This record gives sequence, C-alpha cells and structure tokens, in this order.
Amino acid sequence: MDINSFTIVSTRAAIAEKRFTATRLVEDFYEKIKAEDGEVHAWLTLCQERALAQARRVDDLAAKGDPLPPLAGVPVGIKDVMVTKDVRTTAGSKVLENFVPPYDCTAVARLEAAGAIVLGKTNCDEFAMGSSNENSAYGPVRNPRDKSRVPGGSSGGSAAAVAAGTAVAALGSDTGGSIRQPASFCGIVGLMPSYGRVSRYGLIAFASSLDHIGPLTRTVKDAAILLRVIAGRDPLDSTSADVPVPNYEEEMGKPVKGLRLGVPKEYFSEGLDAEVRAAVESAIHRLGAGGAEIVPISLPHTAYAIPAYYVIATAEASANLARYDGVRYGYRSPKTRTLSEMYRNSRDQGFGAEVKRRIMLGTYALSAGYYDAYYLKAQKVRTLLARDFDQAFQKVDAIVTPTAPTAAFKLGEKTDDPLAMYLADIYTVTADLAGVPGISVPCGQTQSGLPIGLQILGRHFDEGTVLRVAQAVEDSMSRA
Ligand code: GLN
Repeated sequence: MDINSFTIVSTRAAIAEKRFTATRLVEDFYEKIKAEDGEVHAWLTLCQERALAQARRVDDLAAKGDPLPPLAGVPVGIKDVMVTKDVRTTAGSKVLENFVPPYDCTAVARLEAAGAIVLGKTNCDEFAMGSSNENSAYGPVRNPRDKSRVPGGSSGGSAAAVAAGTAVAALGSDTGGSIRQPASFCGIVGLMPSYGRVSRYGLIAFASSLDHIGPLTRTVKDAAILLRVIAGRDPLDSTSADVPVPNYEEEMGKPVKGLRLGVPKEYFSEGLDAEVRAAVESAIHRLGAGGAEIVPISLPHTAYAIPAYYVIATAEASANLARYDGVRYGYRSPKTRTLSEMYRNSRDQGFGAEVKRRIMLGTYALSAGYYDAYYLKAQKVRTLLARDFDQAFQKVDAIVTPTAPTAAFKLGEKTDDPLAMYLADIYTVTADLAGVPGISVPCGQTQSGLPIGLQILGRHFDEGTVLRVAQAVEDSMSRA
C-alpha cells in the first residue's frame, strides 16, 4: 500500500472495508519513520506499545463490523507540548528531558476516543517559542520539501511529519502563528480554532491567553473532521467555551458564492515577497471568479501587532515558566550548595537562549514601574486589534491574506537576528491576539517549488466559514 498519500478519509475507509488492518498500518508507519525521518527529525519520541494497543482495539471493532468512529485507525503525531500519560513529554526543552506525565491532554484523549492512533511526539521549538523549529533542544527539523530549509515553527515537527507522510495528521499549537506558518512552509493545511474552541487542558503553557491547539492535515476536509473531534467544552479547562460544535463538513460543503471576503491592505505592503504576493492574489482572484465578493478593507492597527504580541506573550511566558525551578519536576542541576543556587543553576542549564531571552523580556515588562508603560499599553493595543476585526467582520464574512511574508527560509538564515525571526509572524499574530480562527491552505508555489499558503480568518467560533473558503481554494488549485 502507498501510505504516502493517505488522508483521514481514505485511511478510515480502507480500515472499514478491511483492505488492511490498523495494526499493519501502524507497523508500516513506524518502518517509514525509521527509514526516512533521520534527516527531517520530525519525531522526538515514539510510543509503539500504546499505538499497537490502540490499533488492536480498532481492529477488533472492524472485525465485529461495528460502526467505526471518525478517526478509526488514523496514525497521528502530537506536538511535544501536549502531555501524554506514560509517554515522555519534553516541550522541546532540556528542562523536561525526562518528564513522563501522569495524565493525558484532553485533545489527545479525544483523538484516541475517536479511534486515532498516536504514533509519538513531534519535535518543536522549546516551549513553542520560535518560527523555524531551530530552538528545539533536540536539534532542528528540516523541511521535507527542501531539506536545506526550515519547516517553520514552532509546530515544525508536526507539519513536517504530515508533509513527509510519516503521519496522516497531527496536532500543533498556535500562540502567534505556530500552526499556520509551518503549514504554509510545508505545503499542508493548518487550522487555528477560535480561542476557547478547543480545551487547553494538558497543553504545556507558553502564553495562556494566546495558546490554541489545532490540526495539521493534508486536506481541508481532514482538518474539519479532526477539529470536530477535539472541539467543545471541557470541564477541566474553564476557558473552553460552552458553544455548540457544528458539523464542519456540512458547513464547508457550501459554495463561496455570495460570501464577502475582505482583503486588508496592511497585509500586502512592504516586506511581502513578490512570488508570495502573486500566488496569494491569484488565489483571491479564483475565489472571486467562484462568485465571492472581494472587498478591500483596512485593519489599521496591524503595525502594532508584533510589538504587542512580544510584550504579552513574553509576560505570560515569564509567569508560566516560573514553575520550572528544579523542585517538583524537570531538570535539577546537580551539585549545588544552596537552594537559590539550585534554582539559578537548574534554570540556567535547563533553558535555551530564546527561552531565557523571553523570560527576561517578560519579567521586565511586568516589573513595577514598567508595567503601565509596556504590559498595560500592549493590552490596550490588543483591544484595538480585536476592534479592528470586529469592525471588519461587520462588512465581510472572512478575511484573506498571505500566511507568511516569505516561503520557507534556509536553516541558520535568521538565527542571529531574533527581530527578523519575529517578523516571520507578522500576518499570524493578529488572529491570536484577537482570538479569531484562522487557517493556512496551500495556494501555489514559488519558481523553485516551495509551497505558499493563503490565510483565511473568520469571526469568533465561525470556523465553518473559514473551512468553506479554504475548501474552495483547495478545489481551485487543480485549476490554477
Ligand atoms: N513564532 C511565534 C513565537 O515565537 C509564535 C510561536 C507560537 O505560535 N507558538 O512566539
């Protein structure tokens, strides 16, 4: 069987029709990972026993002829910032090198309850901080489409696994773009749901008011199926919303005719690569030809999004990462004499350079005397950005933009210049700050064959419209 082109839909169908067993499928995927993942390095930890036990459960169901759950037999990867019971979870950090969690993240538990098979944990930037996956303590991930280039970050391992065909789908997390940007760089679909749509229980916190869990898949339909499984209120996360979860597959089946799509001028200015612009404009043109009404709009506070994001995200990170003190769990520096030396050395030796930079930035922004000037100011900007979206969504049903200003860049290209790296998030951080959903869907490629993503943003809890537009883009690719 050619497992390279498997989707959620085709995997489930093949298992239901008994063309092969889930057990056989899992074995094939592990073989592929062993043969092909060396250079890409998308996987950090594999969990064969857990996967095979789950595969047997699925095979038992199929043998009995029972109706199969929506993800029956689908091999998935989980970004290593989601905790998994009895399976090492590192967050890409040396601090958690030997951490074996005692419970499962809700999103992971829901995937398994729906029949998915967790193959293992995928590589990521340390504590999800990064745009290139070069901040992992376990070494970088390479883009399967061009191994001299980054896969994007911070969910680079999840995106690369799906793009390389070592998983059919994966979960990632998005705080400032970390699902959509790697999806764009690797040529796959990445969906960030609305804030509150998916429980964050068991997601190792980076910036709690910005963190989102969502799917990385090969098709828009797969993203819709996966989202429906993980979405919905969870009593274990008080910020998960009690809002009905629609049947996304039905919503996305509708044509785009009559939809109003906003094109914000601020997302097409200086810094946007010419080939990316051309591909995105051509995709928007095809949406117009399909009957959508294309409406020029403005999101006037966009220029302040990056600074506001890097103040708020680092402030929250500095508080969230205070728990890694060498006492309760995680890395403890050996041979220290006093308690404060133990704290200091554990954190100094355990955290990488980018994490330290952010803890320092965030601690500074929250300190007495600077709080009003930086943190409070950033929160005000966040409100203005959210208002920009509210006003835009009175006029349009969705917003279309590039996902990232460039296609995948070379490894090492931006590592010496953190500010240049931060600008890779310029089109994605706004949606995280506003809490609205967004997707990246492949819309073309550069002359040299690098994938380009189109971003679609929607109203709060309206992932349905976002998926509907994404499906139209995917459909239009065959005509591009
Ligand atoms: N690249 C952004 C950052 O470094 C976003 C990370 C994310 O979404 N987790 O903060």
